[in-house]
Amino acid sequence: MRICVYMGSRDGSRPSYLEQSKALGKAMAHRGHGLVYGGGNTGLMGAVADEMLGAGVETYGVIPAALAELEVAHQGLTELVITNDMHQRKKAMLDRADAFIALPGGLGTFEELFEALTWQQLGFHSKPVGLLNIDGYYDGLIKFLETSVEAGFVSEHHHKSLIVSDNVEDILDQIETAEVVYVPKNVVPEQK
Ligand code: AMP
Repeated sequence: MRICVYMGSRDGSRPSYLEQSKALGKAMAHRGHGLVYGGGNTGLMGAVADEMLGAGVETYGVIPAALAELEVAHQGLTELVITNDMHQRKKAMLDRADAFIALPGGLGTFEELFEALTWQQLGFHSKPVGLLNIDGYYDGLIKFLETSVEAGFVSEHHHKSLIVSDNVEDILDQIETAEVVYVPKNVVPEQK
């Protein structure tokens, strides 16, 4: 499987973010998965790519020309695709991957996670999407998603379609066995 990993261009403040991100890269390599990611050499992005390259795994980076300098495009990858803009980047990452996992990150990571999830909700792809909640980083977001269901804006089905785990091996088990079922988004909320 080729797994697209969305993650921060920084390391974050707790050592666990970097440690567990590297552990995910190692476990993916061990299970024979390839990596698709944003192509940068900084933060968690660079660390996961290095971990997988070190294990001899195929790594595909996709970076827009305008960011190649800022995010220090990784020069050691199996393939580095330079796109004209961010839209092409996201489309290229989505097309190349069989599944998606978000690690801790900032606004860019949030946007990528929710795009993969909303495109699945709309039936544009049927690939599993996972969130690795390292050291409770995403506790607030997970809680807020529950609020969005209670408030009637997100259906139970689409909420449950996001695979959430705090464990590297467990999230990979779930991603490998997930069956994405397309349920059209209903604009009328379910009756409680
Ligand atoms: P961040 O989580 O903000 O550190 O960003 C992680 C990655 O997401 C970086 O490679 C950013 O270039 C990328 N990114 C930032 N903004 C966007 C966006 N609007 N769409 C897609 N990727 C983005």
